[in-house]
Amino acid sequence: MADESGHRGNRGSGAEAGHNNQRDPIIHDRLRDGSLKLYELEKELTPIDAIRVRREYIEQETGTTLDNVGTFSIDIDRVVKRNCENMIGTVQVPVGVAGPIRINGGHAQGSYWLPLATTEGALVASVNRGCSAITKAGGADARILHDGMTRAPVFATDSVVHAVQVCDWVTVHRDVLKATAESTTSHGKLSDIVTFVAGTSVFVRLEFDTKDAMGMNMVTIASAKVADLIAQGTGARLIALSGNMDTDKKPAAINGIMGRGRSVVAGVALSHDIIAKVLKTDAKSLHEVNYRKNLVGSARAGAMGFNAHAANVVAAMFIACGQDAAHSIDGSTCITTIDLTETGVYVAVTLPSLPIGTVGGGTSVETQQECLKLLGVAGSGTPPGANAKKFAEIIGAAVLAGELSLLGALAAQHLARAHQQLGRG
Ligand code: NAP
Repeated sequence: MADESGHRGNRGSGAEAGHNNQRDPIIHDRLRDGSLKLYELEKELTPIDAIRVRREYIEQETGTTLDNVGTFSIDIDRVVKRNCENMIGTVQVPVGVAGPIRINGGHAQGSYWLPLATTEGALVASVNRGCSAITKAGGADARILHDGMTRAPVFATDSVVHAVQVCDWVTVHRDVLKATAESTTSHGKLSDIVTFVAGTSVFVRLEFDTKDAMGMNMVTIASAKVADLIAQGTGARLIALSGNMDTDKKPAAINGIMGRGRSVVAGVALSHDIIAKVLKTDAKSLHEVNYRKNLVGSARAGAMGFNAHAANVVAAMFIACGQDAAHSIDGSTCITTIDLTETGVYVAVTLPSLPIGTVGGGTSVETQQECLKLLGVAGSGTPPGANAKKFAEIIGAAVLAGELSLLGALAAQHLARAHQQLGRG
């Protein structure tokens, strides 16, 4: 809806949203005395009224005003069912655009404008400069290395001998486990099963091709069926559907080594001229900053990521495009490498774990879907999976742009100046 000033927004309060002077105070009283739970409002009210009444109750209880939280344009009927419980409104995150960036990927081919949702001044400008360097150089190479979302149930066994027997049983029954998993989904394919033993605990790491979905719900549902079958067949006790060998939302070496979600690599050859004109530095300085900071510094710190700020770009793209923001932790495990060449440098980023999707989760929220459309990757790809692979390559190239720009700024000693100009109010 739009008001006279052209402002589009769904305030969720006032007559048009069903404000009821008799009913609402009674509901607030019931919330206060505990006879109605805050999360039960949708049972009695339309979603838009439930959000408004809940927000007004919280405003009264806390003595705060949530006017801006209460102003939004997204369609909340689906959101309250699938994306957010106890909803009171939205938080608006500024979205900037960087680009165009030329990408010569296995799936992403062309020029792209990158949507970046952030409140970190200088980030969009920095990525924009990296895009400029990449595009002037003819584009970024990008390829998918591996594609597989995982769940790893943990089982308790009676002894180490029993633990090994469980692993053997899983190996022998691989085909039936695969058929069982795939009976739960029309898109997902079980692509690998790897077992791990620690004492009497057995972890079964199930890996799926989830096509265009990020796939956490899909593989969790499939893994539940598989886990039941393993417990029945072996006498092992299922302890938890996720035993942390997946590993979900924690930085973990296993995801770095074996990959989780989409594993993507992106690189670009930069000439001496582009390094000088766009990044205002030279090949040797760029190489040395990467070596001493990203490689030696990260090793000395015991970091799991060997990059300058990959998670910055991953988080901003994830928030803009409806991804699970907690998975930006995986972006932090990126490795950035720089090779000196005769003509300049070849800079590459390797992102072993990008849990991303173009269907499901938050991808259908209107603002996020518009950002996916901007990249030409909204919804199912043809064939299924093509959009998610393209999206992963675009994120890889975006991370490359961010790395180039920050390393360039460090090499040229420009970092503090950029933050002073762009990040300070
Ligand atoms: P989802 O919202 O469950 O939707 C995925 C479903 O979309 C697929 O299962 C598939 O149905 C269908 N689909 C339609 N077209 C498709 C295509 N082209 N490619 C693949 N699937 C297609 O999403 P999800 O990706 O499985 O899970 C993402 C959500 O999981 C996020 O909201 C995230 O926050 C949440 N999450 C869950 C857990 C958990 O433990 N459950 C953990 C972390 C995050 P069929 O399977 O019927 O084919």
